[in-house]
Amino acid sequence: MGIEEKLPAGILLTSVEKLSNYARKSSFWGATFGLACCAIEMMASGGPHYDLGRWGMEVFRASPRQADLMIVAGRVSQKMAPVVRQIYDQMPEPRSVISMGVCASSGGMFNNYAIVQGVDHIVPVDIYLPGCPPRPEMLIDAILKMREKVMAAPLGPNGRKMLEARQAEGRVP
Ligand code: SF4
Repeated sequence: MGIEEKLPAGILLTSVEKLSNYARKSSFWGATFGLACCAIEMMASGGPHYDLGRWGMEVFRASPRQADLMIVAGRVSQKMAPVVRQIYDQMPEPRSVISMGVCASSGGMFNNYAIVQGVDHIVPVDIYLPGCPPRPEMLIDAILKMREKVMAAPLGPNGRKMLEARQAEGRVP
């Protein structure tokens, strides 16, 4: 007889990792800042029409120490780059980054000396979102995909490396 059959009904078996990831993915708190026009679409996604609050994620935090999701919404200027890195460093682990729009992901149309040619030169990016600008539905879809990644993320200081290994094996999107 398996242990599940011995236990009384109503007992839930899980691992600490799954429980922790479930809590994490159910309450993303984004860092409050926008860099350019993409930020308008990010703000719209939290408004009543698109209602990001349906997934418990409409709370954007003014302090990076209370945030675990960074949405880089817009082009990153060279002057802003150290600030973006500092905000990232101030966010507690485990944290996630979404690069929203072509400008954040690759510099987009701003192929010049003033703009960082991809925010992944500054911080590690989990999801790249295409478009100029991406619509709020696309951002919401990216956050939902981020939830899938978080559910598969291993706990501990090497969590990111282990997640990348699982992705390389095709076990995680
Ligand atoms: Fe603006 Fe388009 Fe660049 Fe977004 S991707 S910051 S909408 S120019």
